[in-house]
Amino acid sequence: MIRRLMETPLLPAKIRPWRMAAEHGCLNGRLALAALPRLTALLGAAEGEVVVALSAGCDAQGVRFIQGRLCAEVEWTCQRCLGPLRLPLDVQVNLGLVSDEAAANRLPDEYDPLLVQENSDIAVADLVEDELLLALPQIPRHEDLRECAVHGYAQPDESTPDPKKRQPFAALATLLQDSQRSH
Ligand SMILES: [Zn+2]
Repeated sequence: MIRRLMETPLLPAKIRPWRMAAEHGCLNGRLALAALPRLTALLGAAEGEVVVALSAGCDAQGVRFIQGRLCAEVEWTCQRCLGPLRLPLDVQVNLGLVSDEAAANRLPDEYDPLLVQENSDIAVADLVEDELLLALPQIPRHEDLRECAVHGYAQPDESTPDPKKRQPFAALATLLQDSQRSH
């Protein structure tokens, strides 16, 4: 029993979402990041894996869904210090199955549409990759500036005069001084 729990479950390469929803199927296992080429091309690294925990079913409103979580830790480059950035991804998946655009428009707000025909298969890697790509931040950065400092980032010094920015205030100060003097 314990041995079975410790074994890494194998994910199927493909699923048929509508059938999976009808059968209340589950998708649990791990997927190597190396199997996600669009993601790894963006990150520039392919180390690690994604833990996939998804289940499918039909809700009270009759919406067929695939929901659950994807967890991964990816390595990226901080756009502030250009140092390595470990980015934990914990993605909540809430997909509503739709077979056309009209159905997508009718889908309740809590779902993201997954457009797929009833008898079609989709690649599990594509599904996982799409969700992870959507969850990536627009501009990856260390949350703590001190971490950027470790990688050699120096914060712009506020006391350094910036001629373009400071001049209006300098002019105002001079004006104030002049008006004070004239009284
Ligand atoms: Zn940084």
